[in-house]
Amino acid sequence: MTPTASASATPSASPTASASPAGTDAAASLWVVVNKRRPLNPLNYVPGNLVTPKFEDGAGSNANGFQLAKPAAKALKQMATAMKAAGSGTLFMSSAYRSYQTQVAVHAKDVAAYGLAVGENLAARPGYSEHQTGLAVDLSALGQGCNIRVCFSTTKAGKWLAANSWQYGFILRYPDGQTPTTGYQFEPWHFRYVGTDLSTAMHSAGVTVLEKYFKLPAAPAY
Ligand SMILES: [Zn+2]
Repeated sequence: MTPTASASATPSASPTASASPAGTDAAASLWVVVNKRRPLNPLNYVPGNLVTPKFEDGAGSNANGFQLAKPAAKALKQMATAMKAAGSGTLFMSSAYRSYQTQVAVHAKDVAAYGLAVGENLAARPGYSEHQTGLAVDLSALGQGCNIRVCFSTTKAGKWLAANSWQYGFILRYPDGQTPTTGYQFEPWHFRYVGTDLSTAMHSAGVTVLEKYFKLPAAPAY
């Protein structure tokens, strides 16, 4: 079945064959919507299915040993293989799952360096980060530069991912021009796994952000 806008209220289809709860509220759902108005519940949520993706075919690199929820890890490996086959480069994981405690440190560091307003545009408050779901990954490509920078959108890998990630169940979560809705600047490196049912439905509908697809309030600020 195709996920619909009613999924936020009464999920009519499970996004996976597993027993994971569906919908936009449950932290373990592939469709969970986390933003500055929608913290994880519980705030210190830890996914139960974290794995460390390994790219045995050389299509990607996880040199820092980052973790993802199992379905996201499997899809990421498939996407890396396809990206390499397309001649668009070797995927590199720059960040993935971050625990509540890790986010405490990341948030504190960015706020100390840039002040509250700019720092919080870069780093979510603990419990409000999509990285804590295990479904978000920051991607770059070996030797293409622009790691965690807006210019990643101009690299071969950045262009390929923006155009093709939906086929593997990922969405570019913070698109250009959607800051008033998402609360985040354009982040061409940040991809969120939602499963192919939802990514395909959003692609077909031409809706780029979860808040608009599920008719949830915009979340420009805390
Ligand atoms: Zn990210």
